[in-house]
Amino acid sequence: MKQSKQQAQIVLVNIGETAAAADVVRQFFGNTQADGQVFNLPADEPFTIHISSSEEVPPDLIRRLMRNELTAAEKSLLPEVIELNVRLQNKAGQRTWREQTKPANLRRSLRRLLHIALSEQTGHKFPWGTLSGVRPTQVALELLEEKRLKRDPVTRNTFSYSSEDKAATLRELEEYWKVSQPKAALALETAAAEQKLLNTIDPLAGDYIVYVGLPFCPSRCDYCSFITESAVSQATSLNDYVEAVITEAKGIFQAIKHPPSAVYFGGGTPTSLEENLFARYVKGVLQAIPEGSDIEYTMEAGRPDTITAGKLRIIREAGFKKICINPQSMIDETLTAVGRRHSVADTVTAVNLAREAGFKDINMDLIAGLPGDRKDGFLYSLDRVMELKPEAITLHTLSVKRGAFLDEDGKAGDPFLPQSWLIRQMEEAQQRLRLIGYKPYYLYRQKTARSGLENVGFSVNQGSIYNVAMMSDEVAVIGLGSGATSKLIRKGRADRLYNPKDLQTYIERVESIILQKRDFLMEFAGEEICI
Ligand code: SF4
Repeated sequence: MKQSKQQAQIVLVNIGETAAAADVVRQFFGNTQADGQVFNLPADEPFTIHISSSEEVPPDLIRRLMRNELTAAEKSLLPEVIELNVRLQNKAGQRTWREQTKPANLRRSLRRLLHIALSEQTGHKFPWGTLSGVRPTQVALELLEEKRLKRDPVTRNTFSYSSEDKAATLRELEEYWKVSQPKAALALETAAAEQKLLNTIDPLAGDYIVYVGLPFCPSRCDYCSFITESAVSQATSLNDYVEAVITEAKGIFQAIKHPPSAVYFGGGTPTSLEENLFARYVKGVLQAIPEGSDIEYTMEAGRPDTITAGKLRIIREAGFKKICINPQSMIDETLTAVGRRHSVADTVTAVNLAREAGFKDINMDLIAGLPGDRKDGFLYSLDRVMELKPEAITLHTLSVKRGAFLDEDGKAGDPFLPQSWLIRQMEEAQQRLRLIGYKPYYLYRQKTARSGLENVGFSVNQGSIYNVAMMSDEVAVIGLGSGATSKLIRKGRADRLYNPKDLQTYIERVESIILQKRDFLMEFAGEEICI
């Protein structure tokens, strides 16, 4: 007879941060809602975790504090220090963890202590330990800077770290944040590469990047949650969409003279458009964007089955040096299993065509943990991709989000407990790349990634300025197209403006979108951002 699950509880006392607690609970138990201040969980054995705080601070105050929105009077109401107390009670007895923290770090501390308690209870050790954020490299960089400032409290932003700074940071990542040794080393190495690229951009001088989105693909892959239309079924909208994006580009860049640092055409798959319309799209948008001598242009050709010699010529003639051709897997059966309707042969043909067209900077994406993949499928695919010698390879971990076909049986809400074979495969893949000269240059994590693993870009050259700047929240972004996000940075905080995701709404409202975006950009003119 199947044994029924026991009841376990996590109770928040005197602290309202249920959303921060839910981030951690989700990792171990899947999507869970708190009932008031209590999480009721199914578990193999009963346990209770009590989380209490020495001071009660309303979550709204914490939220606004973290967004730099508090007045001086409100700040003065905050306690200097809060003591957090986490107590785990189970059949083995009781364990307690305590930490004194500042209000601005309350959520971070709560997540860390709760993660430690749940890890103790369940035995699950995640590769990134208690780090739950999207950018672990940011944490590594903060720690490095903290160590450097202890040595040299006067000089700011030198980004020059001693071997002692690095060793102390590694130690803290492993011992305090419980990050595994390989991930701590990866975070440190990638943080340095990211910083080097970011140093080529000067946001205070008005530097920014541009994203141009086309939400069409030839068909939809099962793991994709992106709102993307089929270029076949929506053929009649394609023309209107292209004209709308060109109109938006002209309207926005009319008043902007400063050239961007990088321009990225992404999607969906921009190369889903047939050649004539593709040429109109690329040229029409680029004509509106101010020209500069060293702008990084990238085309995400994405699906190999959309790439033709004609489109590659258009991309080259428009000045693009970087192109992405994304196989995701180099096994036909796996591609079929995830509904990705192209073959390995399509990928090889597309790469050869790109080389013939003169592209010397090709990125290729792979995904670890695809359902239906062979156990060695990811590493096998990596070896096949390495034979094609692309300049960059981005290793992704499968992340099933709401709205993907794969989510139909609720997989996006499942917990993503660490699977040792998947963790080993990712480490082995990174090792193989390092051995032949690739280095990590950017890294981010997605909340629902399998085993809590990362996405990491490797390159034999400096990597992509766009990728690093986009992820950094330090550089302004002008986003064009439906669903595109524009972002401005002010006093260290990112403010975002979203274009409508619905295609028809975007097409119909493009003129008012232009006005709204101009206002958004103008609001910041004369402050730190002067686009
Ligand atoms: S090619 Fe990319 S954007 Fe298009 S459906 Fe597949 S995963 Fe989604």
